[in-house]
Amino acid sequence: MVDTPGPSKVRVRMAPSPTGPVHVGNIHTALFNWLFARKFGGTFVLRFEDTDRERSERKWEDVIYEEMRWLGLDWDEGPDIGGPYGPYRQTERLDIYQRYVDQLLAQGDAYYCYCSPEELAAERQAAERAGQTYRYSGRCLHLSEAERAALAAQLEAEGRSPAVRLHVPAGITLAWDDLVRGRIETESNTIGDFVIRRGNGIPVYNFAVVIDDITMKITHILRGEGHISNTPMQLLVYRALGVPAPQIGHLGHILGTDRQKLSKRNGDAYVGDYRAKGFLPEALFNFLALLGWTPEDEQEVQSREQLIEKFSLERLTRAPSIFDLTKLEWLNGVYIRELSVEEFARRCLPFLQKAGLVEDHPSASRWTWIQQVLAIEQPRVKTLADIVQATEYFFKDEIEYDEKAVRKVLKPESRLFLQDALQLLEKVPSEKWQSGVLEGLLHEYVERQGVKNIQVFQPIRVAVSGRAATPPLFDTLALLGREKTLARLRHTLSERVPKENSEEGLD
Ligand code: GLU
Repeated sequence: MVDTPGPSKVRVRMAPSPTGPVHVGNIHTALFNWLFARKFGGTFVLRFEDTDRERSERKWEDVIYEEMRWLGLDWDEGPDIGGPYGPYRQTERLDIYQRYVDQLLAQGDAYYCYCSPEELAAERQAAERAGQTYRYSGRCLHLSEAERAALAAQLEAEGRSPAVRLHVPAGITLAWDDLVRGRIETESNTIGDFVIRRGNGIPVYNFAVVIDDITMKITHILRGEGHISNTPMQLLVYRALGVPAPQIGHLGHILGTDRQKLSKRNGDAYVGDYRAKGFLPEALFNFLALLGWTPEDEQEVQSREQLIEKFSLERLTRAPSIFDLTKLEWLNGVYIRELSVEEFARRCLPFLQKAGLVEDHPSASRWTWIQQVLAIEQPRVKTLADIVQATEYFFKDEIEYDEKAVRKVLKPESRLFLQDALQLLEKVPSEKWQSGVLEGLLHEYVERQGVKNIQVFQPIRVAVSGRAATPPLFDTLALLGREKTLARLRHTLSERVPKENSEEGLD
C-alpha cells in the first residue's frame, strides 16, 4: 500500500474513451477527482483511452473538452496542452506499453498465447457446459520451446501475431483499502491468466490503465463502482511490475428515479442534454457534487469554491445516489436568480437565437430591450430553455393564442372593455408609453366602470399575449411597446372576441 502522498503531490486523472457523448456518470467521477486535486493543490490529468479504434473519434474528444470546459473542470495536463508525462492518448503510447510487456515477458510473468479465437471459444463453451466459471486453461504457459517455435512460425505464416497474457500466480490474496468502501479482497485463484496485449499489438484496458497510472505518477483513483471487478487484475499488473498501486476508491452509481442506471430510458444520461435544456453549469456542478458526497454542513447550495474547500474523501458514500431532476431544477432556479440581468440575458441569448426569435447581432438598443424582457421572466423560469416559450410573444409578430384562455377569458362582454382600453391606449403617445402611465390609466377606467380588475385586465392580457398568465400586465404592455400592443388589441377584437350572444354555450 502506498503512503498518502504529501498534498501537493496529489495527481489524479480522468481517462474517458472518446467514443460518444459524455455520460453524467463519467463527469461525476471526474468532478470528485477534480475537487480532490484542487483542494490539495494537486494535478488533474486528462487523458484519452482511445484504443477502440473503430469507435474512438476526434470529434468525441472535442465534445469531452467542451463539456468539461462548460462545467469548469479544467485540466493541468492533457492531449491538447501536453505535460511532462505525455503523450496523453493511448494510441500514441503503444511503444510505452510494449516496453512493459517486454519487461514482463523477460521476467517470466507474461507469456505469448497462440490460441485462436475458435480454440478459446471451445474452452469457454466446455467450461459453461460443465457449469464452471471460465478461466483460461493456461495451455500456452506450458508449451515446450519447440512447440512455441512451431506455433510462432505458424501464426507468422498466417500473418497473425500472438497475444500476451499475464501469468496470475495461484493462492495469493489481492486486497486494497478502497477509499470509499473499505477493505476489499479477492483470491487470485478466481482469475485466469488474462490477455494484456492483443495479437494486434493493442493493450487491453486493465493493462494500459495501469501503465498510464504508473508512468503519469497517479496517486489516487476515484472511479465508478463498475470498475471494482477490474481492480484485482490491475493489482496483479502492479504486483508483477513491483510498483505500489495508487489509492483507489469506487463511487456508487448514479441511478434514475426508477433505481436503474441512469440512461436514456429514465432520463437524460449525457451532460450535453442538460446543457441543451438550459441547465447552468454551476447548478449541475453543485448538484453532481452532492450525489455520493455530503458536506459536513449539509448545505444544498454550494459554490465551486466552497465545494473545493469542503471536499473530503471521508464523506464520499458507497451507496448509489438517485438523480432527482426536481432537485436539479430547483438548484438551477437558485442559480438563475443569482445571475445579474445582463449575465442571465447573455446565457439565454443562444436559446432565443436557436428558436429564431433574436437575430445574430442585436443592436445595442435592442439588446437593452431584450434584457428588460428577459428580466421579467428571470424570477420564474426553471431552465434557460424555458425562456423561449415564456417570452416568445414579445419577439414574434403574430401571437399564438392559447385556445383555452381565449374561450375562458374573451367573452362577448369583454368586447366593450377591450374597445375602451384600445381607445384609451391609442391616446397615449409613444414617449409616455410606460408601465406606470398605463397602469394609472387602466386602473382609473376600472374604477369608473365599477368592475373588477380581472374583468378588464385578463382580456387585455390574452389579447396582447395570447395567454392567461404573464408577468405583471403593465410591464408586459410597456415592453411590448405601443405599436404591438395596439395592433394586437385590434386584431383580437376583430378576430377572437365573440359577438354578443353568438358564441353561447361554448364554455
Ligand atoms: N476509460 C475508463 C472509464 O472511463 C477509465 C476507468 C478508470 O478510471 O480506470 O471508465
